[in-house]
Amino acid sequence: MIRCTSRLSAALVVVAALFGVTSAAAESDELAAGVSLELANARARNISRLSYELALSIPDTLALPVTGTNVLRFDLADPTTPLVIDFDAESAAEATITANGALVPTRAVNGHLVIPAAPLRRGKNTVRIDFRAGDAPLNRSADFLYTWFVPAQARRALPCFDQPDLKGRWTVTLEHPAQWQSVANGADRDRLRTGDRVRVRFDETQPLPTYVVAFVVGDMKVETATRAGRTMRMFHRENDAAKLGRNRDALFDLHAKALEEVERYTGIPYPFGKFDFVLVPAFQPGAMEHAGNIAYKAESLLLDATATQDELLDRAHVIAHETVHMWFGNLVTMRWFNDVWTKEVFANFVADKVVETQFPQMRHDLQFFLGNHGWAYAVDRSAGANPIRQPLDNLSEAGSLYGPIIYSKSPVVMRQLEALLGEAAFRDGVRIYLRQHAFGNATWDDLIAALAGSTKLDLKQWSHMWIDEPGRPVIRTELEATDGRVQRLALQQRDPLGRNREWPQQLRVTVGCAGQTRRIVADMVGREVDLTRSLDGCVPDYVLAGGEGWGYGEFELDARSQSYLETAIPSIGDPLARGVAWSTLWDAMLSGRMTPIRWYAMALLNLRSERDVQLIENWLYDLNIVWWRFLTPAQRAERAPDLEALLRGRLEAATDSGQKSTWFGALRNVAITPTTVAWLRVLWEREATIAGLPLVEADETALAHALAVRSVGGEQRMLDTQRDRITNPDRKARFEFVRGAASSDAAERVRWFRALEDPVVRQHETWVLDGLRLLHHPLRADQATVLVPKSLDMLLEVHRTGALFFDANWMRDTLRGHSSPRAAAAVSRFVDDLPADYPPRMRALILQSSDLLMRAAHAQAP
Ligand SMILES: [Zn+2]
Repeated sequence: MIRCTSRLSAALVVVAALFGVTSAAAESDELAAGVSLELANARARNISRLSYELALSIPDTLALPVTGTNVLRFDLADPTTPLVIDFDAESAAEATITANGALVPTRAVNGHLVIPAAPLRRGKNTVRIDFRAGDAPLNRSADFLYTWFVPAQARRALPCFDQPDLKGRWTVTLEHPAQWQSVANGADRDRLRTGDRVRVRFDETQPLPTYVVAFVVGDMKVETATRAGRTMRMFHRENDAAKLGRNRDALFDLHAKALEEVERYTGIPYPFGKFDFVLVPAFQPGAMEHAGNIAYKAESLLLDATATQDELLDRAHVIAHETVHMWFGNLVTMRWFNDVWTKEVFANFVADKVVETQFPQMRHDLQFFLGNHGWAYAVDRSAGANPIRQPLDNLSEAGSLYGPIIYSKSPVVMRQLEALLGEAAFRDGVRIYLRQHAFGNATWDDLIAALAGSTKLDLKQWSHMWIDEPGRPVIRTELEATDGRVQRLALQQRDPLGRNREWPQQLRVTVGCAGQTRRIVADMVGREVDLTRSLDGCVPDYVLAGGEGWGYGEFELDARSQSYLETAIPSIGDPLARGVAWSTLWDAMLSGRMTPIRWYAMALLNLRSERDVQLIENWLYDLNIVWWRFLTPAQRAERAPDLEALLRGRLEAATDSGQKSTWFGALRNVAITPTTVAWLRVLWEREATIAGLPLVEADETALAHALAVRSVGGEQRMLDTQRDRITNPDRKARFEFVRGAASSDAAERVRWFRALEDPVVRQHETWVLDGLRLLHHPLRADQATVLVPKSLDMLLEVHRTGALFFDANWMRDTLRGHSSPRAAAAVSRFVDDLPADYPPRMRALILQSSDLLMRAAHAQAP
């Protein structure tokens, strides 16, 4: 007894030393919440050969908790220090713990369970924990439960070592109502039914990081199909048989094709045995790469017959992206979440290659440009821009690393790297990297090392500017031409922050010469590149330094090119050059080098004649932003008849339902004239139809909301009717939730928003975002401006309690309808008054999300 006590005290001293404190009393303050890098490093050195045996019992009512047992087995190198296990549920202190058979006192400290060193030993150890699960990452509803643990949320549900470089083999058993289905990472091994309950055991998995461990339980249906000898299952809750039937085969085909392509690219067979996927209604992200049971937002995969080309393409892309993750992320995992971008960049980069084989008729260079540059620029032009790789001290902050820089800038950068090395050498380096670190972990430096074998270039230096620095260069074209001769053509780069940084990159300059386009390849190294000689006698109509969507930066046009492109984009034959020209003028408008009115005129001119579906879908998105945020109400009123006539004309002239759907969506979004609004009403009442475009439930719901924010009268009855038209219970519940935000009664809308102060009300995050978009719709933005400061006040709390992305989406959907100087001033005041200890990444998020608001307010200022 004395010996035990003294060992326990010695152990506490070690804990104290590890966390830099001197007394056990202070320890509870010092063992950091979340998972600190220090804790993770100490554990990674100490723990190996980890496995989990998890058993959970899931009741058929929300009134009862999920309970279970987790048995952790692992080897310890040093058993003399207390062991810290992550468990951040309210019930943590009630857990029962035995370590190597000995009952130990439960010490719950700041989201951890601290196991004293006494019962631990060198080599094999077994810790058994009986616990009540935390509900937040389980996403429970009455008859459905799905987990979403990324980046470090597993610890909020169950005890584990919640860090990516402690991979464990998981053996999971789920006990639940017998009429429900369940799916986990491992294949089903056996089902044992007892009365109205069933116990399902799943096979042991390969070593997995906690963030891709997942299970889904509830009232679901299962579809099975075999492709290329592999049997796959799809779990879903869709009750619309036609919708399911229309999509079913395509979903299996897309997965099979993606698996085949990634196996070919990596040279490594699919590593995780069985392959299932789950369609989760209103899933917070688009998808999550759970090993062997990928989760998708059901709405993005089960498309309507009128799906647009963008929707079809996005669906193929998200399926390819998640499939690629089985290798990049799941087989080889980043050591720490600061390198989370390394898995995301490959998921997008290799997914592009997969989709290219699935849509051979499309321009993939154009798609790459449209799908990446604009999103990345939206952050990189803002005052809150972040680099691709960011330091990370604690996994509780890992969620804030995600964003367009990781998803969209990094593929652009990776494509430059691939071009530097050559496609084959790049792929070979990637294969070496995957083989070297299979079922283990790696860092960006490990990848650079694997690639460095095939080049003489100094990749470290290249990597520094593109990976570790935020922002983008400004690249200005200098063109001097007189008397039918060019005196000078040069490109100059400068650092918009005035810090003299230089971004080395290859440019593929497009030059318009007498109705033809020419390419000049320019290595933009140093401050200036002179291209006068490369012109070869051509006197350019225009020069696009960002030509072919290859370069990355703000490309400032020379005066001659800008004035030419304002009216001449339709005469350019190559759609990619048209896309780059449009995007360059978009930047010019946002930087104040072109007025919104001129930009709008340019946009309309192009939309009258453009035939390329990819361009149309992207351009309509930009047009919508300028329409609501950069034009004044008076400017809109003057231009609305013309715009609506154009959109309606193109809707009627379109020959397939996908294109009709694109034009109709654009018209519904911008409509303000009484004539068009009345027509939308008649469509919603089902008293008229659009030839060639049957309206489905999602269209009618969007129409009902569009009409509600336009205060057409009789909104309550209209919303009642729309609710009754929805037969799917998940979608009906979502519609009901949002209803207060659509109300024509301003006081009711405020009450709806105030209710969000309760985190329980915020739990269906996609529903909340639907409501925020209605609440802050441009037509109601004036009344909603008073809610903006409160929304900002809530951001930290939303960040703390919400799942990944919710904080960023919360900001986006709060601000996207606003453009007034009053709203801009409210945000500026909030940022100016932030306390010194406000998390820098949250401050950056506010600056990123408010960038368009600031520019719009500035453009409208007298
Ligand atoms: Zn991903």
